[in-house]
Amino acid sequence: MDKEKAKAAQQEVYKTALDMYHSGMVSGTWGNISARINEEYMAITPSGMNYERLSPDQMVIVNIDSLSYEGPLKPSIEAIVHAEIYKNRPDVNGIVHTHSTYALTVATARKEIPPVCEDQVQILGGSIRVADYTMPGTKEMADACIKALDGRQGALIANHGAISCDVTLAKAFVASQIIEKTAMVYINSMAIGGPVEIPQKDIDFFSDFFRNKYGQKS
Ligand SMILES: [Zn+2]
Repeated sequence: MDKEKAKAAQQEVYKTALDMYHSGMVSGTWGNISARINEEYMAITPSGMNYERLSPDQMVIVNIDSLSYEGPLKPSIEAIVHAEIYKNRPDVNGIVHTHSTYALTVATARKEIPPVCEDQVQILGGSIRVADYTMPGTKEMADACIKALDGRQGALIANHGAISCDVTLAKAFVASQIIEKTAMVYINSMAIGGPVEIPQKDIDFFSDFFRNKYGQKS
């Protein structure tokens, strides 16, 4: 493994975990964050630790195929979900999973958020689907997330939280913030009669813009 690349990924995961903490988006349980090192390995936050007391080199290096890891700290129990997404989405190099309040609120109602905000459509690719309810940290949860993320950069997970992914971890973190904001706007708009969806032709425009901007295949 390229040691420099691994170190850079650990540093990026650590920094993003702290950014997430300072953003106030997390309360209670943390969620987890990862960055792809290469086709074989990812760096992911360790299980059940206070990130502020950790250092970048304690971000766990995990084999994407076998889930074996190096060092004394266990990776997040949701490492399997991250690994399966990396296997299925070659375009993805960073993943953020949160239990943020507004996303979780909509996820408990198991409601797909229609395309209602421009930045939602641009950054996440359209509606925010809900991955089926499954036990955390299982292959079933990974499969449900992959299905809900098809053609998208973000999804809700039924009764659990949200997950976002993108070409870089920095972009995946932005996507996680857009999910939380969209969920809040969606809930608020329901109190004043419900949101009006963005017309399909404009969604197509935003999708084209998104694909060209990020160089993805159409
Ligand atoms: Zn979780």
